[in-house]
Amino acid sequence: MLKQAKLDRIIRWGIKWSMWPVHLVTSCCGVEVAHTSAPVFDAERWGVLPFNTMRQTNVILVEGTITRKMAKVLKWVYEQMPEPKFVIAMGACAVRGGLFWNSYHVVQVDTIVPVDAYIPGCPPTPEAVIRAFFMVGNKILGKPGPEVKPVKVDLTPYLPQPKPAAKPAAKPAAPAKPAAAPTAAATQAQPA
Ligand code: SF4
Repeated sequence: MLKQAKLDRIIRWGIKWSMWPVHLVTSCCGVEVAHTSAPVFDAERWGVLPFNTMRQTNVILVEGTITRKMAKVLKWVYEQMPEPKFVIAMGACAVRGGLFWNSYHVVQVDTIVPVDAYIPGCPPTPEAVIRAFFMVGNKILGKPGPEVKPVKVDLTPYLPQPKPAAKPAAKPAAPAKPAAAPTAAATQAQPA
């Protein structure tokens, strides 16, 4: 009889090679996912089979900007996925908002659902997408992987700054004083 630890390893191995991502495509990054599955890169060789039924998938690939309205959809999709489930944030927009980082309606994916792998780039290459799946695979197997997290940059200086308060109008200049009369000593010092 198989020991529980061995059985657990086999189950994890099976999950690692059966990652079927559902796509949450909101922007242009989705095009690179099509390349990832096309013949040249053929991610299905590693068990990455694009899927479109959220209840039968274990990975959600977030491709593009997530707005406040889309955040609700992301949460809704995530909650319908069976366990174990994983999230990959693909592209600068999904990682930190990308071009729209300071827009009033853009949210970061990891504030809505837990993210297992980030793929930087605009757009990321198919190789980078495949690498992210391997990172998640290593996580499933319990192998230590590179801790790749987006660097938090202080963007405050680039945000619109409050305008300085208007200065009060300058007072009109005081009239010039008349020149002082020459003193007696100065008069005596004058040449004759
Ligand atoms: S990261 Fe670049 S390619 Fe990807 S969705 Fe944003 S703008 Fe488009």
